[in-house]
Amino acid sequence: MKLSSHIAQGVCLGPVAYFLTDLRTAVIFSGSVVLIDVDHYLHYIYRKKNVSVSGMFSFYDDVWNRRREVFGVEIFHTAEVLLLLVAAGFWHPAFLAVAAGFFAHMLFDFLHLSWHKVPFVRALSFAEFFIRKKNYPPGMIW
Ligand SMILES: [Zn+2]
Repeated sequence: MKLSSHIAQGVCLGPVAYFLTDLRTAVIFSGSVVLIDVDHYLHYIYRKKNVSVSGMFSFYDDVWNRRREVFGVEIFHTAEVLLLLVAAGFWHPAFLAVAAGFFAHMLFDFLHLSWHKVPFVRALSFAEFFIRKKNYPPGMIW
């Protein structure tokens, strides 16, 4: 899903979060809806040993073009990170706002991928990734 779509989602859901909570929580929530995708950049740096932002976008354009044959995982888009954030929420409630933002983002991503008939092109957890990755040759793991 495009960055602009996630920004629109954050902007649209922010007032809902504000209505349900407070301004600080709403800002953290909306920011989290967008900033979760930082993991795409971190993943790109790790995989390609390159910090080019335009290179990252072309890398993910290529992944998208091969979406029916590839498989991968993005660190922040996993159930494990979501659970850690919820657990950290017992320590500081701001983490719950981050978890809610990440969850909303992941839900929109899942709907988007389902619309394009590839709902499981990205693992939803590290456990799933390590179980399923052996079904793909190395070049098909993004
Ligand atoms: Zn995403």
